[in-house]
This record gives sequence, C-alpha cells and structure tokens, in this order.
Amino acid sequence: MVLLDGKYIASQIREELKAEVAEIIASGGRAPKLGIVIVGHNPASETYVANKMKACAAVGINAQKIAFEDTVSEAELLDQVAKLNGDESMDGFIVQLPLPPHISEQAVLSSIDYRKDVDGLTPENVGRTVQGLPSIVSATPRGISELLRRYQIPTAGKHVVVIGRSNIVGKPMAMLLMQRPYLTLPKLSTAAVGDATVTICHSKTQNLRAICLTADIIIVAAGYPGLLTADMVRDGVTVIDVGITRVDDPSAPKGYRLAGDVDFEHVAPKCAFITPVPGGVGPMTIVSLLQNTVQAYRMKAEN
Ligand code: NAD
Repeated sequence: MVLLDGKYIASQIREELKAEVAEIIASGGRAPKLGIVIVGHNPASETYVANKMKACAAVGINAQKIAFEDTVSEAELLDQVAKLNGDESMDGFIVQLPLPPHISEQAVLSSIDYRKDVDGLTPENVGRTVQGLPSIVSATPRGISELLRRYQIPTAGKHVVVIGRSNIVGKPMAMLLMQRPYLTLPKLSTAAVGDATVTICHSKTQNLRAICLTADIIIVAAGYPGLLTADMVRDGVTVIDVGITRVDDPSAPKGYRLAGDVDFEHVAPKCAFITPVPGGVGPMTIVSLLQNTVQAYRMKAEN
C-alpha cells in the first residue's frame, strides 16, 4: 500500500510555481494577481481565506483580500464582481462561499468572467470542461487529477466510481475522468487523467457496495465519515478520500479531529494507493487554486 502524499506533492508544485513566477518577473512581467472576495465573518471561511493568502505569498502571487460585512446587498456584490471583471491588473478572483442567505450564490458566480474564474465554478467554465475546451477546472478535481498523474496511476480504461455529485467535486471530477485526456488542462505531464469508465454515485444510489466492488479507483466526496468500509473494496484498489468532517474528540487538542469518508484503518491494507486525511486531497486543493491563477495569467498574456 502506498500513501498518496498530497502534502509533499503540493510542496513540489509550490516550488515549481515559485520558479515560474520568478521567471515571469525576471523576464519583465508582473506577478500574477488574485482577488479574494469574502463576505461576513464565518470562521471557517476566514481560515480558508487566510490560508489562501498565505499560500499565494509563498509562491509570489499578489493576493488582495476584498472584505464585506454580511449586510452587503447582492447588487453591491455584483457591482464588485463587475469591477474585478474589468480590472486589467486582476488576473483571477474568487468569491469565498458560502454567501449569506439573502445573496444568490448562483447569481454571483454566473456574473464572474470565466477567464478570471479561478475557482472554475462559472457555468461557462463548467460547460467548456464538459465540451473538452480549454477551461479552468475547480480546485479539488484538478488537485486529484494532479495527484493521480504524479503517482502515475493510470485511469485509461479503468472503472472509476465517484461518490458525491456536488458542483465543486463530484460532477467536475467525473467529467475530467471520462474525457479524452489533455483537452481541458494545459501543460500536463506524462501520466494522463481521463479515458476512464465512470460511475457517479450519490445519496440515492442503491447497491453502493456492489458498485464499489467493481471499481479500480474510488473517489469519495460525500462528507459522511466512515462511509467507505473494507467490505466495499476489492484488493488493489486506489482510494481517494475527499471528505473532511469535524468529529468531536475530547482527546484531541482542539476537542475535535478531521475525519475522511473512508474507514482508513480497515480499507488501507487492501489498497494499492490511498490518500490520508488530513494530508491527502486538502493540500492539493489549495495549490490548485495557485495553479489556476497562474493559468489565468498565462491565458490572458497569450490573448
Ligand atoms: P456536498 O456536501 O455538496 O454533497 C455530498 C454529496 O455526497 C451529495 O452529492 C450526496 O448525494 C452524496 N452523499 C452523501 N451521503 C451519501 C451516502 N451515504 N452515500 C452516497 N452518497 C452520499 O459535497 P462536497 O461539497 O463535494 O463535499 C463533500 C465532502 O468533501 C465534504 O466532507 C467536504 O468537506 C469535503 N471537501 C473537501 C475538499 C478538500 O479539499 N479536501 C474540498 C471540497 C470538499
């Protein structure tokens, strides 16, 4: 069994990005710039944004935080998005979710210029991914693809079961895996992701166990700790655990621990490859946002 070390791979990618940004600057360019819009004071969102700002600084991306109180109106937020769309110095930006209930996330996301949509969540980017056109892919599926590629885990002809059908993970992940590879992401390395036979499962799927038992690769993004158990996987499977759920744990320093969707202790011995939680998909997600920002910068420079 090999642990897919997202922390290590993400650090490798950060080094590559740092060198790439340094090269851009050395050849007379300016640093890529990312805008991060945050509304209100949701503690988890504030932590995510702080981590994203720190990650940008570490590779030389110029990150700007644009904060609003949760009393901001939808119209004011849409006005901010329009300004960022038109700001030549801003290569990409994200709007940290969730937004307060009086603001339509769909309206805000749909108003972002897809060329600056480094979260890859606009209908245009998703549609382009579906059609195999150059697009910006949302961070978690991009990170998982990168992890599979760098460990040279082939997906061509394999049966991949994706558990979860969210817009940010399950759906785009399934789409990337079933594509002819190399269509949606630029500059990929040797082992390609794609050409897989994909089954998408969700909360209403019947016979989840039987379906999983036919999988070569299982990607679980359900937010249901311990969902994937040892009796659901065959020997030699690859398991990617996307789930992150806070579970009360009085013995942990913070009173809780982070749990994945996989019964790691019993599933891992049967696996060829498996991601740990934490330290697997999570670090890959953050670094993918940085890759997407540099990609948006390059796409703009090429146009
Ligand atoms: P979500 O929370 O929007 O939806 C969960 C999905 O799982 C749904 O499509 C549902 O149908 C399916 N599901 C739920 N229970 C199920 C069950 N018992 N059997 C089969 N399917 C079931 O999905 P999300 O936003 O993709 O998040 C999923 C998990 O991944 C969460 O724990 C989230 O915190 C985590 N996440 C982690 C990262 C990361 O970087 N590691 C990124 C995004 C999401």
